[in-house]
Amino acid sequence: MVKNEKLLKSIAQDRVARLFDMAKDRTLKLGSNDPLSKRYVGIAKDISTHYRIPADMRMKAEVCKACAAVLIPGMTCSVRLASRVGYLVLRCKCGEEKHIFYRR
Ligand SMILES: [Zn+2]
Repeated sequence: MVKNEKLLKSIAQDRVARLFDMAKDRTLKLGSNDPLSKRYVGIAKDISTHYRIPADMRMKAEVCKACAAVLIPGMTCSVRLASRVGYLVLRCKCGEEKHIFYRR
């Protein structure tokens, strides 16, 4: 057990958030996902796994699980409502779909 485990975890959380912001900024600037932004997301995932911190909620909602692309509606993914079942469908360019429920 490391003495300053709380400190380490808070530093790791800051780094995960910063890496995700960098990936999102780069994707917004270029208009598509490039290998570097996917690499930033990969490093952020590795850090959160290594330090056993819960995944950033923004990352959970805005990153494709299959290809690690940052999902930005109208730019890197399409959005539609599945109103019958009550969820939002984000479809990545790789074909992977993410469902976000809005009705309980
Ligand atoms: Zn994808």
